[in-house]
Amino acid sequence: MLLKGKRALVTGSTSGIGLAVARALHAEGADVVLNGLGDADEIAKLRAEMDAYFGDANLLDPTAIEAMMGEIGPIDILVNNAGMQHVSPVEEFPTDKWDAIMALNLSAPFHTTRLAVPAMKEKGWGRIINTASAHSLTASPFKSAYNASKHGIAGFTKTVALELAQTGVTANCISPGYVWTPLIEGQIPDTMAARGLSRDEVINDVLLAKQPTKKFVQPDEIGALAVFLCREEAGNVTGANWSIDGGWTAE
Ligand code: NAD
Repeated sequence: MLLKGKRALVTGSTSGIGLAVARALHAEGADVVLNGLGDADEIAKLRAEMDAYFGDANLLDPTAIEAMMGEIGPIDILVNNAGMQHVSPVEEFPTDKWDAIMALNLSAPFHTTRLAVPAMKEKGWGRIINTASAHSLTASPFKSAYNASKHGIAGFTKTVALELAQTGVTANCISPGYVWTPLIEGQIPDTMAARGLSRDEVINDVLLAKQPTKKFVQPDEIGALAVFLCREEAGNVTGANWSIDGGWTAE
């Protein structure tokens, strides 16, 4: 039980990668706080499974984030994971989608971080893990807001790592390639339209074409990496951007 006595907030943990990370931290003994949107019964089941508190903030709203962080109190581990995607040519990109993607993928981690850091500094220990993306290191067409937000979170993470370098608090990104989650499934129809392709062509010729392994990354592999970053032995790992992308960004 590596993480017994540690309290962890994982944003966007009602689904996909965040849920796998929450489960991995819980399995190591962390007291997990869940957050995200979704069906109330499903959320109640997840809370019972992990004996978890639920922070109900809609992360598009900074006031709601402040209220949630106040309710939760001090945390040791902050996983900024909630994110959204929209696929569209830049000249047609809906401006409300741009604003929402920036608010959720980039501004929400700023707010949770600024509110979590004082208690971490006081304790002399903390872990901030931001789910970025291969799109924090490279780009794909039709994802202007997503690519901009993910490059942004990578820069934000490095800055926080440098500011906290002598405090016992680390800050790192995990950058997955394509992981089969509702976020990826949801963008297939728009990618079919934007590129004039069938569903199978999008999966094999657009998504897996990027990954030399020809496999989707599994959510629990990301959970294992998050646990590693929380270990004492990872205390000198800070400001890093960890690719877990089947070799995508090695090309
Ligand atoms: P997902 O759609 O399965 O989960 C997203 C989570 O964010 C859900 O829990 C959802 O409820 C929550 N969420 C969405 N809007 C919210 C809001 N306004 N307030 C609070 N919570 C909100 O997606 P996923 O694939 O698990 O993605 C998780 C993270 O991983 C995202 O940041 C995404 O950009 C990143 N990522 C995913 C992939 C992939 O291939 N799936 C690849 C690279 C990076």
